[in-house]
Amino acid sequence: MDDCIFCKIIKGEIPSEKVYEDDEILAFKDINPAAPIHILVIPKKHISTLMEINDEDMHLMGKIMKTIQKIAKEQNVAESGFRLIANCGPDSGQEVMHIHFHLLAGRKMGPKIIS
Ligand code: 5GP
Ligand code: ZN
Repeated sequence: MDDCIFCKIIKGEIPSEKVYEDDEILAFKDINPAAPIHILVIPKKHISTLMEINDEDMHLMGKIMKTIQKIAKEQNVAESGFRLIANCGPDSGQEVMHIHFHLLAGRKMGPKIIS
């Protein structure tokens, strides 16, 4: 998608601090971190929201979850824990319309995720 920020990051047109990359998935540090570790995990395929996931994306979504496990281990937070957030649609506050998972870690999270 030409006007998608995350597609531009995937293509290297916008710089990012990558923490993981393969042929289908990219993970990079959030530009405005909400925790000591704040990583965005995205598919390279442009899928705008969680509601746009198709049957053909099942393998990709499973692979993203396995990648999150791998990143959590590499970042040494597999045991201490982390929070995974996927905003979807207007009421969630989703700003970038390319599906992404926020991996937040490195501090004790509050009891509530809503504000
Ligand atoms: P959303 O609110 O859509 O769930 O989250 C979008 C996230 O993308 C935000 O946490 C924001 O800081 C991050 N973000 C937006 N633009 C950029 C960018 O150009 N580079 C990086 N690394 N993160 C970005
Ligand atoms: Zn995109």
